[in-house]
Amino acid sequence: MTTFEDFQLNKRVLQAIHDMGFEEPSPIQASCIPLILGGHDVIGQAQTGTGKTAAFGIPLIEAVTPGKHVQALVLTPTRELAIQVAGELRKISRYTRMRSIPIYGGQSIVHQIRALQQGVQIIIGTPGRILDHLRRGTLKFDRLRSIVIDEADEMLDMGFIDDIESILKETPEDRQTLLFSATMPDQVKRLASKYMNRPEHVTVNRGEVTVPLIDQVYYKVLERHKLESLCRVIDSQDVALGIIFCRTKRGVDDLTEALIARGYMVDGLHGDLSQAQRDRVMKKFRNGDIELLIATDVAARGIDVDNVTHVINYDIPQDPESYVHRIGRTGRAGKRGLAMTLVTPREFKLLKMIERETKARLIAKDIPSIADVAE
Ligand code: ADP
Ligand code: MG
Repeated sequence: MTTFEDFQLNKRVLQAIHDMGFEEPSPIQASCIPLILGGHDVIGQAQTGTGKTAAFGIPLIEAVTPGKHVQALVLTPTRELAIQVAGELRKISRYTRMRSIPIYGGQSIVHQIRALQQGVQIIIGTPGRILDHLRRGTLKFDRLRSIVIDEADEMLDMGFIDDIESILKETPEDRQTLLFSATMPDQVKRLASKYMNRPEHVTVNRGEVTVPLIDQVYYKVLERHKLESLCRVIDSQDVALGIIFCRTKRGVDDLTEALIARGYMVDGLHGDLSQAQRDRVMKKFRNGDIELLIATDVAARGIDVDNVTHVINYDIPQDPESYVHRIGRTGRAGKRGLAMTLVTPREFKLLKMIERETKARLIAKDIPSIADVAE
């Protein structure tokens, strides 16, 4: 059994990891940390909730040297994820003098420039805004040692390939390149073979894509009864914190309104909200001021809120990868979660395809009757 002590980490880093309540490295951490510390390029494939952030965060922080130049860059697909990864890195580095900041669109660029001028060793950012700074000359990667492409599959899905390549071209050729992804579609493999130097592959749970600690069920519903069915499903459950997925932004708005009208503590999250609005919603969710977050796939990407007990697919995801990502919002860090999917008769084929591709078995459940819900 590997322990964090085995990695010969700085005492300050070890203390911080201890404070975070991490008792032992997760499998992806046990494999990746020594490889990254050893300077290798690494491809880490593991589903959400397996601790990928600390798998690269701990060795990056361990390797930071005094000096105020940017030494490592973490690219993330969304602002929320940039903030979250920055938060985790800050916890790991709390007893060190390292500085890190998140850099993302929607936040004042002047404010970011000022923060950068103070000297920052690790930057966590979304591709668009990072490129913006590179072009303005307010950010330089000429002394960058490591780059992390986090949630690579999501990032390429969202069309960031050109931005990522432009950024990579601004970094030293002898840099260390680390890539993390839940899935390995061809596009990700191509990026890796083009920009990585003899990478080590670390795969956790090969062949089994979904997280074992998540119970997965589905309910057959009629389109016209969907809202009512959803309410009964929610009422029959002890939902502490849940995320409901809709296919479209419009769907998120409509469902949010309908559930608020029925007295549920919910709020919606999607790409049309301003950054301030999104931050406010996420804060309410983290604090437990709302119990259900209604979101599109894009808005929910990478969100790591502890204690999400339920994920509900109000609209069934359109592909297996999206299914895996959605349900990965629960059952994190060894806790149990429940993923529930509503399926209309027309969508049944899609459900079967998801089951086949993810090798998961979804248990069929009946919509609770009014009597079940009332008691
Ligand atoms: P991923 O990027 O693989 O989806 P995260 O890095 O976001 O996963 O980690 C998921 C959760 O697990 C976070 O809340 C994180 O703090 C926690 N975690 C990570 N590593 C450990 C560990 N070794 N022990 C306990 N909890 C951990
Ligand atoms: Mg992650």
